[in-house]
Amino acid sequence: MNDVKVMNKGDKFAHATVGSLHGFEGKLFVKDATGATSCEMSFGKLPTGAAVPFFHSHKENEENYIILSGAGKFQVNEEVFDIAEGSVIRVSTNCDRNLKCTSAEPITYICIQAKEGSLGNYTMTDAEITERENLL
Ligand code: ZN
Repeated sequence: MNDVKVMNKGDKFAHATVGSLHGFEGKLFVKDATGATSCEMSFGKLPTGAAVPFFHSHKENEENYIILSGAGKFQVNEEVFDIAEGSVIRVSTNCDRNLKCTSAEPITYICIQAKEGSLGNYTMTDAEITERENLL
């Protein structure tokens, strides 16, 4: 079973890891390890034939699921659709959701939960190119 480990931390950053996703099982939340203030993030893995053991809904936060490996079905209220590696699924507030792995390979996914409607500026409308000595 993997744990979330803080690897590096500074005034302006935190680096955490859940380790190898190949051996990873279950669900791990990482917000507390990184100190994220804008979203909660979790890694999840479902073995073949498994679904999350409950449906759930969020009052204020939308969720964005990123499927890293495997394939299966995703259900939002009464709608069901196929998902696979590379799928990105956004789910709004106030609806029920679940996913199930139907592939021989487990589904590994990331879920990012953030306040619905909170994104204002992003990418190049929020970023600016800065001058810095490259130490990499
Ligand atoms: Zn959720």
